Amino acid sequence: MAAVHESVLDAIGGTPLFRLARLGAGIAAPVYAKAEFLNIGGSVKDRAALSMILAAERDGLLEPGGTIVEATSGNTGIGLAIVGRQRGYRVIAGVSDKSAAEKADILRAYGAEVVLATTSVPQEDPRHLFNVVRRLAEEIPGAWLANQYDNQANPDAHVRTTGPEVWEQTGGRVTHFVAGVGTGGTVTGTGGYLKQVSGGAVTVIGADPESSSYGGGDGSPWFVESIGHFLHPETVEDRWPQAYRSEVVDSFERIPDRESLLTARRLAREEGLLVGPSSGAAVAAALRVARRLGPDDLVVVLLPDSGRSYLSKVHSDTWMRRWGFLEEEAADGLRPLLE
Ligand code: PMP
Repeated sequence: MAAVHESVLDAIGGTPLFRLARLGAGIAAPVYAKAEFLNIGGSVKDRAALSMILAAERDGLLEPGGTIVEATSGNTGIGLAIVGRQRGYRVIAGVSDKSAAEKADILRAYGAEVVLATTSVPQEDPRHLFNVVRRLAEEIPGAWLANQYDNQANPDAHVRTTGPEVWEQTGGRVTHFVAGVGTGGTVTGTGGYLKQVSGGAVTVIGADPESSSYGGGDGSPWFVESIGHFLHPETVEDRWPQAYRSEVVDSFERIPDRESLLTARRLAREEGLLVGPSSGAAVAAALRVARRLGPDDLVVVLLPDSGRSYLSKVHSDTWMRRWGFLEEEAADGLRPLLE
């Protein structure tokens, strides 16, 4: 019998693991994927949003009638909108003018107010999205800035929920945990918990875009959204997000865009898991790791969100070809039959 919930907030966390039987074929170590797109808002960020809002209430930063503010066009905004509205708050999402229009539409659909601002000016410019959002948080009475990059309640969500779930679901047999790193909350919280509960026996691997700074890249642009970070070497005040603790990550697998994107497409076609590009990066990293392991090891990889948000990107043959990620002949098996 499926669960009956009194609130959608009870449908955050408790996601299943799926064995990657096809992609893992011929690899001795089993690879299991944690399907975070099955959270109520469709991503792993529902966990962080719930945790940050409950912590803000507990700390007296958010009171009845209050307003939640965050610069986000993506999964964190959706999570904050769902949890925030359910708990009676006004939710304001600052969205970059470069974001796709559908991203703002989905936030509005969940009842958030969207403020569009530019990210095409230097960060010191008062018109920059980050400054607009900070000003709103200062000027609106009772407003609270969620600040997922530096908020400890973000990694804490994974210490309390994702980590224990992975440990219990694998009966304590997990030996390697693989996740992409955006704010770092997922890898830090889940990885940190698994290391602690296993007495240091679990190895934690970050999946990073090849040019991202986490894994030592040069910062040149990459396609895979929501993971990776760029530290400007000359800007002294640049630093890692406080949600990220580098000592939790034992090593990084640096994954080129092409490998991430093609892996996301294989997950949909071969495993029935329609996921976004950061899931492709994580699974590509997990497969690299698993190939070096044996049958007594067990790899868990986290799939942050659904591919439905990327139908016109990674899951579109046209888009993949336009950016050179898909060769013409491999793209459409029916073409020779139709001509
Ligand atoms: N993938 C997707 C699709 C995400 O939305 C996020 C969160 N921004 C991540 C990966 C990275 O997760 P975290 O912020 O916990 O490092």
